[in-house]
Amino acid sequence: MNAPITPDQALEIVLGFVSPVDEVHLPHSRVLGMTLSRDIHSRVELPPFDNSAMDGYAVVSADLVAAVPDQPAALSLLETIGAGEVPTMTVQPGTCLKIMTGAPLPAGADAVVMREETEQQGERVAFLAAARPGQNIRLKGSDVHLGEMVMAAGTAIGAAQWAMLASLGQAMVPVRPRPRVAIIATGAELVDVDAPLLPGQIRDSNSFALRAAALDCAAEVVAVRRVGDSLEELTVILQELAPHCDAIVTSGGVSAGDFDPVRDVLHRDANVLFWKIAMKPGKPLLFAEYQGVPVFGLPGNPVSVMVAWEEFVRPALLRLAGRTALARPEVRATVRGAFTSPAGRVEYVRACVTLEADDWVAAATGDQGSGRLSSMLGSNALLVVPAATTRVQPGDKLPARLTDCPEVVAG
Ligand code: AMP
Ligand code: MG
Repeated sequence: MNAPITPDQALEIVLGFVSPVDEVHLPHSRVLGMTLSRDIHSRVELPPFDNSAMDGYAVVSADLVAAVPDQPAALSLLETIGAGEVPTMTVQPGTCLKIMTGAPLPAGADAVVMREETEQQGERVAFLAAARPGQNIRLKGSDVHLGEMVMAAGTAIGAAQWAMLASLGQAMVPVRPRPRVAIIATGAELVDVDAPLLPGQIRDSNSFALRAAALDCAAEVVAVRRVGDSLEELTVILQELAPHCDAIVTSGGVSAGDFDPVRDVLHRDANVLFWKIAMKPGKPLLFAEYQGVPVFGLPGNPVSVMVAWEEFVRPALLRLAGRTALARPEVRATVRGAFTSPAGRVEYVRACVTLEADDWVAAATGDQGSGRLSSMLGSNALLVVPAATTRVQPGDKLPARLTDCPEVVAG
């Protein structure tokens, strides 16, 4: 049970344990950031009617075959319609209708000429160029046709998806709600951000890293608690929170020290699925099932917390949320600078990756000590150094998991 397993084995155990939260049907206004639980098939056509893509004139294109700037074709104007109005007249040869973007195409017209290619003189309009049949017309159903599968189950509802659901008239949306996550920071040394520091104390930063990371994974943070290194306190808090959570994430108290309550309480009260992973940082990570709820016992060091989150908690929460895409995008990056890495452990090196002249280039963000929160600043990737690699040289290529958008450097 206590021999470290590989990160791949650990992820397999975690993902094998968690499954998506139950589907619900929610009003459209509430589903931004949630995940579709079913494929969305269109029950309408988009656009719902043929309409103009330009401000201009609806015409019979055959009227304009000979039109050039020197010899414009002249048509008589019937009426003007704006978006939201309905044409009352049919465009006959020799006539045209003034039309705004988004207004329905009148019967008889087969093209729209943009205003810039015309000159209006009272009830007559001069056309300076020929028109192609179909030009500047958005046909009914040309964006989305009836019955089309528009979005797949597992898709995150972002700006484009939310907008599309509105266009489709999807007033109620089948989604997985945000998984409910509780965060517990352990450590007798921890105090609030605004508290004066007494000797031996530090400010709790992990609670904030974990809260922010949870929001980024479509989760809802239902509780943030802090406990000292007390078995009794932690026991009570776990009992209290578990019935209201889909996952619990703790920080600290899970290593080999004398005052590590998470380790002791979970070994006593939970079903420990693994403890310790052959990785750096984050080795003492403990994963357990407590009253049916997955508990991630992350180590306390601020960098270990964030790396362990990236590799295990993030994919698990995304799966709970119903997402199908769980992994970060990965590129192979050329390493700048040399560093050593421990034998037998996969190391995750915080790095800044840039795209330089079509090449991904990675530079480590300085000293990689797991207590150095500053090494996370300016990092947009984790370089994955295989367990067997002990030495990385400039020019070596390593997989880089992108945690943020890389900058493109002009070359
Ligand atoms: P632990 O895993 O409890 O042994 O803690 C490892 C290191 O992380 C210690 O130096 C702790 O003081 C530090 N640490 C633990 N929890 C937090 C926290 N919430 N915020 C900042 N540092 C922490
Ligand atoms: Mg501690």
